[in-house]
Amino acid sequence: LFDENVVPQAPEDPLFGLMAAYRRDTFEKKVDLGIGAYRDNNAKPWVLPVVKKADEILRSDPNLNHEYLPIAGLAEFTSAAQKLILGPASPAIKEGRAATLQTISGTGAVHLGGLFLSKFLAKPHPPTIYLSNPTWANHNQIFTNVHLPIKQYPYFSAKTKMLDCDGLLSTLKSAEQGSIILLHACAHNPTGVDPTQDQWKQIAEIMRERKLFPFFDCAYQGFASGSLSQDNFAIRYFIEQGFELIIAQSFAKNFGLYGERAGAFHFVAAPGGNAGDVTKRVASQLAILQRSEISNPPAYGARIAAIVLNDPKLFAEWEDDLRTMSGRIIDMRKALKSSLDKLQTPGNWDHITSQIGMFSFTGISEKQVLAIREKWHVYMTKNGRISMAGLNTGNVEYFAKALDDVVR
Ligand code: PMP
Repeated sequence: LFDENVVPQAPEDPLFGLMAAYRRDTFEKKVDLGIGAYRDNNAKPWVLPVVKKADEILRSDPNLNHEYLPIAGLAEFTSAAQKLILGPASPAIKEGRAATLQTISGTGAVHLGGLFLSKFLAKPHPPTIYLSNPTWANHNQIFTNVHLPIKQYPYFSAKTKMLDCDGLLSTLKSAEQGSIILLHACAHNPTGVDPTQDQWKQIAEIMRERKLFPFFDCAYQGFASGSLSQDNFAIRYFIEQGFELIIAQSFAKNFGLYGERAGAFHFVAAPGGNAGDVTKRVASQLAILQRSEISNPPAYGARIAAIVLNDPKLFAEWEDDLRTMSGRIIDMRKALKSSLDKLQTPGNWDHITSQIGMFSFTGISEKQVLAIREKWHVYMTKNGRISMAGLNTGNVEYFAKALDDVVR
């Protein structure tokens, strides 16, 4: 049944392929800048101290069992996740027009959102979803799987290594009414370039004019700047402006709960007379979709996050941990920039420190990416994206030298 014409060999996932190549490399000074996970200054995975504490609290609970969670997930988790992303004083929460389901991390939330939109907005034809160019590669696969037509909006200017705001706004202006616009809430992956608050306001204005639907993907709240409220500015602003919108929220990076798959999907109805009604109907359909896809979400990561989010003291400790991670990454940006300055590496490298979050778009070509891998055993994705978390005080100078060498 499954010959080559029916099931052709699929290409290896580029990121996971890169990780395997890194593991095979026996060179002592090899550097992994492909990884999308935080590493400490010794290049080791970091269990957040507050997560260790929450884990102990969880394990000492004599009533802990392994029963199923409800379809929508752990209530203590979903309500805390909602407060975190919308802001504790959000009018959407107060007015009962936000619905939240726990999902299989951020990926599961993006998928649930895509599935919901493609099922309920199918007529007269499925809406186009606009993705930033470039975007997290998985967006393309997820929305293709649910049969939403995909278009791109300009995002990154290769020339300035900043946001191509004019390109972005003019594409939104010409998008068909009712199109979905996928927006990275903060710490854009892969470029590390975010709109300024003023640019967000311009984006919102055009989206309101053109009746475009915001779909926020928020995978790095608190991890980017170290401030939870700074990193969800765009979402709060759009809600203040009265948008109806959806959000995919991941706890992978900001809690270091990568493999535990803790995340949430939020629907927020526009304010107005029937908002509560809309929210109830949407939530009821989301529950049916969730039931058929995963029945109910996994418990462990959500329990850990809920313990922290619902305890003011642990919450404050979590904020310290967020500042530790984001602070180390910002320090590495500065260290890299200063090493390149010292080496007088050709080109302008200001973007290394102006970009934010885990990733940086170096702007080097695919040929240079392959050269740095061959000659210096430095691993990064073909588009020249580096994970800042892979740098530390022991390898940042080595990497600067390697980069200097391949761009000369
Ligand atoms: N969206 C974006 C933009 C991301 O960068 C990521 C993580 N790489 C995710 C969603 C989802 O990750 P996860 O499923 O691990 O939460």
